[in-house]
Amino acid sequence: MSILDSNSVGSPSSDGEFKPLNSEEFRKQAHQMVDFIADYYHNIENYPVLSQVEPGYLRSRLSETPPYLPDSFDDIVRDVEKDIIPGMTHWLSPNFFAFFPATVSSAAFVGEMLCTAFNSVGFNWLACPAATELEMVVMDWLANMLKLPKSFMFSGTGGGVIQGTSSEAILCTLIAARDRALEIIGVQNIAKLVVYASDQAHSTYKKACKLAGVLPCNVRLLPTTQASNFSLSPALLRTVIEADVGAGLVPIHLCATLGTTSTTAVDPIGPLANVANDYGVWVHVDAAYAGSACICPEFRHHLDGIERVNSLSLSPHKWLLSYLDCCCLWVKQPSQIIRSLSTNPEYLNNKASESGSVVEFKDWQIGTGRKFKALRLWLVIRSYGVANLQSDPRFEIVTPRLFSLVCFRLNPCPRSATGTEEGLNRMLLDRVNSTGRVYMTHTIVDGVYMLRCAVGSTLTEELHVVAAWKLIKEGADALTERVESRV
Ligand SMILES: *Cc1c(COP(=O)(O)O)cnc(C)c1O
Repeated sequence: MSILDSNSVGSPSSDGEFKPLNSEEFRKQAHQMVDFIADYYHNIENYPVLSQVEPGYLRSRLSETPPYLPDSFDDIVRDVEKDIIPGMTHWLSPNFFAFFPATVSSAAFVGEMLCTAFNSVGFNWLACPAATELEMVVMDWLANMLKLPKSFMFSGTGGGVIQGTSSEAILCTLIAARDRALEIIGVQNIAKLVVYASDQAHSTYKKACKLAGVLPCNVRLLPTTQASNFSLSPALLRTVIEADVGAGLVPIHLCATLGTTSTTAVDPIGPLANVANDYGVWVHVDAAYAGSACICPEFRHHLDGIERVNSLSLSPHKWLLSYLDCCCLWVKQPSQIIRSLSTNPEYLNNKASESGSVVEFKDWQIGTGRKFKALRLWLVIRSYGVANLQSDPRFEIVTPRLFSLVCFRLNPCPRSATGTEEGLNRMLLDRVNSTGRVYMTHTIVDGVYMLRCAVGSTLTEELHVVAAWKLIKEGADALTERVESRV
């Protein structure tokens, strides 16, 4: 094969010069790859979810030395199918129930295409104004969706940043808390710093402590019990902090978890913050997985008390359709993180930076270079709208479901012309019952009209419940104007 082989990845120009990015070659290969990916998604259930290969399987399949001359793109794609796919554990398979899901979407994928295409390295504002400013907008949007107080938003007094992983986000907050304390007690006293989390906190917390220089013997992973659903007890926290203060130690940081990795236990944010605030302890809420759910009104209460914490992180790559990696960190006083992490090399100096009027995200994270990741979140939020991301906000479960009866109603869309709530729900009930495919009834309690769906007839199976829900949603679609997908 010649280096001039026209089907090679690094496409040669007519004079044989190597050109790694040729727009026509790119168009062809990228189209081919999109087809490959679409087929992969379509056929994903044909593969074993958990890879069946033995350790070292790949070394025996691939050549020991790299190719001296280019391989053809077709050959490479074929080898992905033949050699790489068998070694994949298919995280996107509908049959993947392990760990936490890593959710994705077409919108995030095309956002990632753009991000990769631009390949901007937006460490400071000037290096890519759009990347910095879109990130600020999107972080405020998401804060708005979570109903975070203004103190976490750029439009208020705080702000947010997109990090790679929760581990980095937690580490940044820990370093800020550490430096805040060391400024007062002096670096020579670093061995006195003590931090808190429950024994259910993610293992990355211990790692962050190691990286931040908190002694392992000063990392308090407080015991939880099944009786308290493995959530951290504020009373226990107070007792332990008091003992530490009495022993001359300096409490600096609490990592509360909203949705622990083992069992999705939720630490009570408000009551824990009350204790921590009494001792000037930085409170970080690690909501890596469950935080995304809090954009839905029915889950928002888990964030109660959030106005009294210092920082919050959650990962849209886990539960907000965003592809790896995307961890959102909000802080109430960004200056505290910036004080710890800012750098000021001469080669990055520019007027905008010196003016202090722009955000320099390199000072909010561990690395310097950073991708234009906000595009992914922007595409997701714009393409689906808050309404779709909240699933179906049109329905309200009126009373808590205790047994197998679900009492629900359809809330009128602000722009629909269907009249009163009661009228709307009467029409919905008539509509689903008139299909002859289901029968459900209604009740009125405290003036509220609601539909009653009592699941549990002897012959009812899951498929019947799923079909009934589909019918209800179709009825609602017909009765109300769909909330427009753009908000
Ligand atoms: C997944 C998870 C982490 C670790 O997240 P990374 O982004 O992989 O660092 C931390 N905390 C909780 C609660 C998690 O669910």
